[in-house]
Amino acid sequence: MNANDIPSAPTNFIRNLIDAERAAGSSSEIITRFPPEPNGYLHIGHAKSICLNFGLAAAYGGRCHLRMDDTNPEKESVEYAEAIKEAVRWLGFDWGEHLYYASDYYERLYLWAEELIRRGRAYVDSLSAEEMRAYRGTLTEPGRESPDRDRPAAESLDLLRRMRAGEFPDGAYTLRARIDMAAPNMNLRDPVIYRIQRHHHYRTGDAWCIYPMYDYAHPLSDAIEGITHSICTLEFEDHRPLYDWFLEQLADLLPARPRQIEFARLNLSYTLMSKRRLLELVREGHVSGWDDPRMPTLVGLRRRGFPPAAIRAFCERIGVGKSDSWIDMSVLEDCVREELNVAAPRALAVFNPLKVVLTDYPVEGVEEFEAANHPQRPEAGSRRVPFCRELYIERDDFMEDPPKKFFRLAPGREVRLRFGYIIRCEEVIKDPATGEIVELRCTHDPATLGANPADGRKVKGTIHWVSARHAQPAEVRLYDRLFTQPNPGAGREGRDWRADLNPESCRVREALVEPGLMQAAAGSQVQLERIGYFFVDPVDSRPGRPVFNRVVTLRDSWAKVDGGGD
Ligand code: ATP
Ligand code: MG
Repeated sequence: MNANDIPSAPTNFIRNLIDAERAAGSSSEIITRFPPEPNGYLHIGHAKSICLNFGLAAAYGGRCHLRMDDTNPEKESVEYAEAIKEAVRWLGFDWGEHLYYASDYYERLYLWAEELIRRGRAYVDSLSAEEMRAYRGTLTEPGRESPDRDRPAAESLDLLRRMRAGEFPDGAYTLRARIDMAAPNMNLRDPVIYRIQRHHHYRTGDAWCIYPMYDYAHPLSDAIEGITHSICTLEFEDHRPLYDWFLEQLADLLPARPRQIEFARLNLSYTLMSKRRLLELVREGHVSGWDDPRMPTLVGLRRRGFPPAAIRAFCERIGVGKSDSWIDMSVLEDCVREELNVAAPRALAVFNPLKVVLTDYPVEGVEEFEAANHPQRPEAGSRRVPFCRELYIERDDFMEDPPKKFFRLAPGREVRLRFGYIIRCEEVIKDPATGEIVELRCTHDPATLGANPADGRKVKGTIHWVSARHAQPAEVRLYDRLFTQPNPGAGREGRDWRADLNPESCRVREALVEPGLMQAAAGSQVQLERIGYFFVDPVDSRPGRPVFNRVVTLRDSWAKVDGGGD
C-alpha cells in the first residue's frame, strides 16, 4: 500500500447503522469528531478512534472535527494540545478548518445552565462531595433528595451567578441537574453539571472559576458543532441517557441533535494504555519520555519507526465492534512488517561478528558488488557494497558440528554470500586458551558471482556479511515489548504492573554496518537483511553517526532470503 493512500473505512456496525438511516430517508451530511482531552499524549487506542471517526467522515463524504475536550484545567496544557494536533496529522488525517475547543463554548454552556435552572431542570446544591456520595444511594438502593433540590429557581440563579463571580470557595456549591434520585441508572441521580474550581486554564486563563462536567459539556459541544454521530467507547453506554437528557431539555435552543454510539475500545497486549499509567512510566523513569520508542503513544511509535500507514492498516484489520476484547501485539507488529517489507530498502549489517579470511583472494584486492535495494522493487535502485579478503559474518551462521538441515557455513561446506561469491570453509581457527572460534579460513569460487556453479552442484544457504576493511560500527537499539506479561499487573493478587516490566525491552549494542549506511538520514527506514527492520532515530542520530532503532524483527529471520522475499 502506498504510504499516502488512506484506505476507506471497512464496513462495521456503525456504517451499517448509517446506511440504515440513509435507507430510511436521512440525507444529512455525516459529521463526526475526535474529542481528546489535552491531558496527555495520544496512544494507539486513540488511533482506533481517530481512524474510525475520520474514516467514517471520508467514507460518506462528510467531515470530522478535532475537538479539544478541555473542561478539566488541572491536568491540561498547551504542550499536550499541540502534541495531539501533531499526532493526528502524522497519522495522516486532516481536520481542515474544523479545530475546536470545548473551552470556546464556556459562555454558551453557562447560559444554557441558567436556562436549565429557569426550566426547573437544575438547582444549586450546597451538599459537600462527601454528603453527595452518601445521598447518592447504591445500585440496589435509591438515592435521597438533597434538601436544596426544591430551591426556588431565582435563588439558584442568583447563587450560580455568584459562583461564577467567584464569591464562594471551591466546593461550597455545585450546580446539579434535576432528574431522578431514584433512577436505576446512577448517572441520572441529579448529576453535577458545574463545580467551583479555582484553577488556571491553559486557554481561558483565570476568566472562569466554575467548570462544566464532561457529561454536560460533551453533548452540548456536539450539538453546537452539528455533530451527527458522536462515537465514544463502551464505558459511556450508561451515560447515554444523560447525554440524551441534556439534548432534550434544551432541544429548542440547539442547532442539532447528535446521536451517541458506543464501540469497544482497543485493548492491546503487552502494553498499558491508560494515560495515568503512561504518565507514571514517564515520571518514574521506566522510559525516557512520552516518545520513548517502547511507549504505545503515537510519538513513541513514530520514533520507534512504526509507519503511520501500518497503524491505519492495523485499525482497519482489528475492525470496530461492540464487545470488549484483547488484540495481540503481534497483530500490530505484523502490520508494521507488511508495510516495511514493501517500503524499506535493504542493507547489510552484522550484529555478532565472526571473522572470515578468504585465503585465495588477493591481499589488497577490493571489489564492489551491485546490490539491489529491494528484492521485488527494481525501481528502488541499487547500491555498490565493497568486498575484500577479510569479512565478518554472523556467528550464528557457522556451526562446527551442524545438523543435516543446517544450510549455512560449516567445515567443508559451501554457502553463498549475499550479492557475492560462493565460499567454502576450509579451516577453523580457535583461541588456544579458551577454545573459542576466532576466525574461519575459507576459499571462494570466482565463477559464482551472480551465477550458479557451472557443475550444477547445489548451494542452499545465503548469508549476509560485511567487508572487514570497510564496515563501520554503529549503535543499534534492540527494542522489544515493554512488558513480559500480556496484561501487565493482572492475575496474581496485589501484583503491580511494575513487576511485569521487561528488563530486556531495550538492549543497546554495536553492529558492523555496510559503509553506505552511515549516511542514512534521520527518520529513514531500512531492513537489515535477515535481522529486522530498523529506523534511524530522529532524536539521537547525528550526521554520519546514525543510531538504529529496531522497529520489529523479521518473522522468519533467516529462511527467507533465498526466496528473494523479506
Ligand atoms: P485514557 O483512558 O487513556 O486516559 P481517555 O479516554 O480519557 O483515555 P480522551 O482524550 O478522553 O482519553 O480520549 C479521546 C477519545 O479517544 C475518546 O473518544 C475515547 O473514547 C477514545 N479512546 C481513548 N482510549 C481508547 C481506546 N483504547 N480505544 C479506542 N478509543 C479510545
Ligand atoms: Mg476521556
